[in-house]
Amino acid sequence: MSSTNIETLAETIQTARHIVAFTGAGMSTDSGIPDFRSPGGKWTQVKPVMFQDFISDHESRYEYWRQKSEGFEEFGTAEPNAGHRMLATWEKERGLSGIVTQNIDGLHQAAGSKSVIEIHGTAREVQCLRCGFRDKADDYCKYFLREQKVPACPACNAGLLKHATISFGQPLEASVLKAATALVRTADLMLVMGTSLVVEPAASLPVTAKQYGAKLVIVNRDATQHDSFADLVIRDNIAKTLTAIEAMLS
Ligand SMILES: [Zn+2]
Repeated sequence: MSSTNIETLAETIQTARHIVAFTGAGMSTDSGIPDFRSPGGKWTQVKPVMFQDFISDHESRYEYWRQKSEGFEEFGTAEPNAGHRMLATWEKERGLSGIVTQNIDGLHQAAGSKSVIEIHGTAREVQCLRCGFRDKADDYCKYFLREQKVPACPACNAGLLKHATISFGQPLEASVLKAATALVRTADLMLVMGTSLVVEPAASLPVTAKQYGAKLVIVNRDATQHDSFADLVIRDNIAKTLTAIEAMLS
């Protein structure tokens, strides 16, 4: 890790008034949550259930709940890492206005962050596609693991109950995307971490930030789509980088 880059970023953070963090899977790998879409990741071995199949076919719903309940056991025990905790501190003590995340693991909130926009929803909750009923996911996953049955919506007893996440083939929530774009437009520093910025809207949010005058800084282990477009790129571990910056600032 180049100490010059760390110094530059520390100075940028110190002078910024509206920092917006944009985080992806790489933010949570230090918490033991694998990046499902990376090469060798889970989605190269297990076929995710498409939203249309979930809607139309009971067997697909069963497969969905099987995968999600297994995954829930995996990350139900995951804890926020030093990177999550730094961002929560920066919201309190520095100019961090909020976080936009692609992650569905709820670890930013678990670390104490208040302003978090989850563009892919959250796997910590389930939602009824008919009546909008929402609840913590734990009991429904436990029910599935115990009974091997797809749980029904306890509120309307007719709608399909699904994790409150955006599945493959399911459109993003327009209101959530609008809130994310609005937040990004206020940024004077857009801090992108742990995402390769390939899929939408991840690909366009940094462009929007720059168009509205923000500096763009990318911290990621691998190269991203927007490296040449960024003001600063740090190719290193996120938790380690943020911890080094905080040490420099305090
Ligand atoms: Zn319902």
